[in-house]
Amino acid sequence: MDQREQAGAAALRREAAVREAARRGLIRDEAPLAGFIDVAGLAEARRGLRAAFAGSRSTVLHTFAAKACSLVPVLRLFAEAGMGCEAASPGELAQALAAGFAPERIVLDSPAKTRTELRTALRLGVAVNADNFEELARIDEILREPGPGAVPGARPPLGLRVNPQVGSGSIGAMSTATEHSKFGVPLRDEGGRERIVAAFERYPWLNRLHLHVGSQGCPLELIARGVREVYELAEEINASAPGRRVTSLDLGGGLPVNFADDRVAPSFAEYAQVLRAHVPGLFDGRYGLVTEFGRSLVAKQGFTLARVEYAKEVGARRVALTHAGAQVATRTVFMPDAWPLRLGAYDPDGVAKRTPTRVQDVAGPLCFAGDLLASGRELPLLESGDLLLLHDTGGYYFTAPWAYNSLPRPAVYGFEPAADGRVRLTLLRPQQTLDQLVAEAGGRPAEPHLTEGEVLPARHPPA
Ligand SMILES: *Cc1c(COP(=O)(O)O)cnc(C)c1O
Repeated sequence: MDQREQAGAAALRREAAVREAARRGLIRDEAPLAGFIDVAGLAEARRGLRAAFAGSRSTVLHTFAAKACSLVPVLRLFAEAGMGCEAASPGELAQALAAGFAPERIVLDSPAKTRTELRTALRLGVAVNADNFEELARIDEILREPGPGAVPGARPPLGLRVNPQVGSGSIGAMSTATEHSKFGVPLRDEGGRERIVAAFERYPWLNRLHLHVGSQGCPLELIARGVREVYELAEEINASAPGRRVTSLDLGGGLPVNFADDRVAPSFAEYAQVLRAHVPGLFDGRYGLVTEFGRSLVAKQGFTLARVEYAKEVGARRVALTHAGAQVATRTVFMPDAWPLRLGAYDPDGVAKRTPTRVQDVAGPLCFAGDLLASGRELPLLESGDLLLLHDTGGYYFTAPWAYNSLPRPAVYGFEPAADGRVRLTLLRPQQTLDQLVAEAGGRPAEPHLTEGEVLPARHPPA
């Protein structure tokens, strides 16, 4: 299948899933919002990634960046397909282990790892990328402690994150290789190179370099320039140090996603081609490679459905009040220019509306005026009972909800073509219940977790 046929097939699967969700009444008063993940699309994305690097003589570990879609059943699909997992917090590490990733297929990249987090990872045999020189010193201390961490043979790859300082993409907040980025050790600062080389001389266990140029908005050339900088640094370290020191390179993720239509562009194949052109030595087998893609593996495999609860005219403007707002589309609501989403209008039966379009505002359910998914958007007229579809929300949207206004985390369903020509929907995450919501807010069931000294007296004694 070429790119256009693939996009067409994905759109047909999506349309069928919307109709099936409507038929089964999944979007209703008690659950007016839900997320959906295309399981066949996920497999297709994984195959595309694997094929793009298949010609390489290097061993490649493709890890999935858990934060892009941190649902254990989705992580399990990646684990079962033989991929690894990139975790960036103790929670993501726990989710990765629960999903069945072997520790040696996990990479830990948290920016501010505590000693406990580092010790846990090292004892498990999880690869760690240190963010800075202070963290390297901590790792060195932990490796000297008695216990399994002290066994050199069992040591996982240990790396240092380098900021190649190649500059920003189109979204500042997503660009991690800028002059002043908070991530990694700066390569171009005065004395930066020398400090990194010295770290490799000082710590014999250090054997990997890591970079991640940015997420969304970074052109392929910018990412490839960052990779080239770090590759050249590895060559320099290996030329200066006795014996080969840098044995693997972790290239990070960051392949941008096309949110404008159904095409997958750029593809993993295009990215690998740009890498080959910029850094030919990368694929000759001397370095093990790690990738950490997130958004590009999942964004286009998910959509969100929300019911339109009301529609009204305000100051000669049409506004649809829906159940999808900043709680599931936080970036879109707060940075609408950087993160616009395609929206679709469906009737209550899940059929795309073909009525004439009209310019309208699409609002979410939260109690602040700026909770708008789109303003002045041209769409078939949204009316109460209709379904609003948010495209390309498989990464960082319904899986990374915001708790404002105590709205429940929505249910997420996986969908797959079924034998009878219909669609099979599987619950991947139930909607948060009101009881759970109350408990997480410190309500009754949470109280036993407090230690005795922390429990506040129910009533203050009279003065
Ligand atoms: C977020 C992140 C990724 C994944 O980025 P995507 O843009 O989703 O591919 C990979 N590596 C690191 C270190 C990250 O912080």
